[in-house]
Amino acid sequence: MKKIVPAICILVLFLTGCAGVGKTGTKEFKTSFFAMDTYISLTAYGENGDTALEDAQSKMEELEALWSTTDENSEIYSLNSSGGEAVTVSNETRDLLEFALSMADETDGALDPTIYSVLLAWGFTTGENRIPEENELQALLQDVGYERVKIEGNEVTVPEGMKLDMGAVGKGYTGDVLTGILKEAGVTSALLDLGGNVQVIGTKPDGSRWRLGLRNPFDAEGYLGVLEIADAAVVTSGSYERYFIGDDGKRYGHIIDPATGYPAESGLASVTIVAKEGKLCDALSTSLFIMGREKAEGYWREHGDFEMILITDEGELYITEGISDAFSLSGGFGNMEVHVVGKEKGE
Ligand code: ADP
Ligand code: MG
Repeated sequence: MKKIVPAICILVLFLTGCAGVGKTGTKEFKTSFFAMDTYISLTAYGENGDTALEDAQSKMEELEALWSTTDENSEIYSLNSSGGEAVTVSNETRDLLEFALSMADETDGALDPTIYSVLLAWGFTTGENRIPEENELQALLQDVGYERVKIEGNEVTVPEGMKLDMGAVGKGYTGDVLTGILKEAGVTSALLDLGGNVQVIGTKPDGSRWRLGLRNPFDAEGYLGVLEIADAAVVTSGSYERYFIGDDGKRYGHIIDPATGYPAESGLASVTIVAKEGKLCDALSTSLFIMGREKAEGYWREHGDFEMILITDEGELYITEGISDAFSLSGGFGNMEVHVVGKEKGE
């Protein structure tokens, strides 16, 4: 069996292209480091940008230490090895877990933060990928079920055998925390790239919107178009990010459908969510990918506090009306079929 293909970190390509003191005379500060299994790059403008970025990096490292599934000192590790006993966790872990559980409920269990044992069986955490037997998956699914996690104050109880994984929401939540740190320090313009989860504060210093390249899910190199945003988060999930090719020649992705225990195959190649908060984007990019186009459209019509771009396996693009004006296809993709999704079904 072939080894896992490494994750392609930068899903969204930046088209900012400036360094040092920007054209507007505003000081630019940049930092990059590795955390939460991915390459992080933060850019902030303004007087306190340097200290704000240092604080942001320390915070991210602190959160990673709480939520890692493999670090024996993490709170998630403690919960996963608690044998059904209550564990007292930090406010941040409680908040993240509460959010993940509420999104699990909202998405009818498409998102399920208790999916970790299934993920382990597929080898996604170790890189030693294998295709588990159907009965093995069915047995593991007995220990999956977000409704059975109990939170009372800061005491969390995870039933014996059940294992949590914050992989689908942790980076998005972190984006919100870092944005808060930078804003509090007085930063009014910033771009945070947390391995393809992008979050921006304000506009670029010159007042124009940030331009983000939307990755082509069928080609690691290219990008399909440009999305112009301000004060928003943009998160993409796709089967091309982390996957392996099985002995049967099939591609198996790292986003698992909790209904079956198998990697989601819903006809979507990627889902990009745009919203104010990174945590909502992250939760929805993963869960709407599992749901597929029709259910995702239904979910958007019902909720409406976010916008999205869906790319189907056939290479068609569906974009919700709220961001259709902010998106333009790149040169080579002029003849791509683009559908604008409206509030009324069939629009
Ligand atoms: P990435 O973090 O790679 O950008 P996602 O936000 O889509 O991608 O999260 C995928 C990760 O979430 C997987 O690697 C795994 O850790 C976890 N995961 C997979 N399937 C589910 C699911 N149905 N519900 C919750 N988490 C999941
Ligand atoms: Mg996600």
